[in-house]
Amino acid sequence: MTTAFITHRECWLHDMGAHHPECPERLSAINDRLIAAGLDLYLSFHDAPPAKLEQIARVHPMDYVRSIAESAPQSGIVHLDPDTAMSAGTWQAVLRAAGAGILATDLVMSAQVENAFCSVRPPGHHAERAKAMGFCFFNNIAIAATHALEVHGLDRVAVVDFDVHHGNGTEDIFAGDPRVLMVGTFQHPFYPYSGTDAPAANMVNVPLPAGTRSDAFREVVAEAWLPALRRFAPEAIFISAGFDAHYEDDMASFGLVEADYAWVTRQIKAIAAESAQGRIVSMLEGGYALSALGRSVTTHVKELADL
Ligand SMILES: [Zn+2]
Repeated sequence: MTTAFITHRECWLHDMGAHHPECPERLSAINDRLIAAGLDLYLSFHDAPPAKLEQIARVHPMDYVRSIAESAPQSGIVHLDPDTAMSAGTWQAVLRAAGAGILATDLVMSAQVENAFCSVRPPGHHAERAKAMGFCFFNNIAIAATHALEVHGLDRVAVVDFDVHHGNGTEDIFAGDPRVLMVGTFQHPFYPYSGTDAPAANMVNVPLPAGTRSDAFREVVAEAWLPALRRFAPEAIFISAGFDAHYEDDMASFGLVEADYAWVTRQIKAIAAESAQGRIVSMLEGGYALSALGRSVTTHVKELADL
C-alpha cells in the first residue's frame, strides 16, 4: 500500500502580496525537500481536481460559498480581513485545495492507497462555516471529513490538529457532532484566541503556553489525545497538518522539531491501524519557515509511507 501525494499547480496562483508569510514558495520548499530526500520515487502523485460547489456546501452555506467566488478580483488584491486576501488566482487555488481532500478521501476509502498527504494552499482550519479568516477561505479538512461521512458512509471520523494555532473553524463546524472527535494542541493565549471557553464534549482541546517543546507536547498527546482517540475508534483519521509549531518558525513560539512530527505521525498511524484500516488523510495547514516546513513535511510523509 502506498501513500498519495496530492497537489496542483493552481495552488501556486493564490498570492496575498509581497512578504505575506502564506506564500506560494511554501509549496516549492516542500517539493524541493521531498525530491532531495528521494521520497518522490515512492509516492503516488495525483493532481487535485477542483472541488464541486455542492461538496464545499456540505460544510459552508451556499450563500457564503458564492460570496467568496464573487469576492475574487480580476487583478490586484482584495482583503477579506487584515491577514486574508484574494488575488486573481485565489478562486482556482481554493477549489483545488478543497478538491485535494475530496480526492484523498476517495483514494483512501477505495483502498487505492493507504493514506494521503495534500500539499495545498490556501490552508483551511481557521475558516468557520461562514467566515474567512487567518489565511483560510474554505475548511479543507472539514470538507474532506464530511465527504467521508456523507458519501462513503462512515459513522465516526477523527480530526487531529497539530498546527500551533487553534483550529477554530473546524471546531465551529463540528462542535457537538457525535460523528466527529477533534483533538488539538495549540499555543494559548494566542491567535485566534479561541478553544478554551467550554468546548463541546467531542473537542479535546489542549492549550499550551509559549515555549512548549518536545517533552510537554508528547506528554499531552500521550495523555489527552491517544486515549480519547482509542475510545472513539475512528474509521478514518483526518490531520490538519500545520508545521508552524517548529522551533525555527517565528510565526509562533513553540519548539517542536522534525522528530516530534515523526513521533506524532507514528502515534496517529498506530490508532489508524487499530480501528481505521490505516486510513489517514493529511492536509497542509500552517508552516512558514520555508526550510523547516520542507523538512517537517518530508519527515511526516516519510512516516506516513513507512519509509
Ligand atoms: Zn497555524
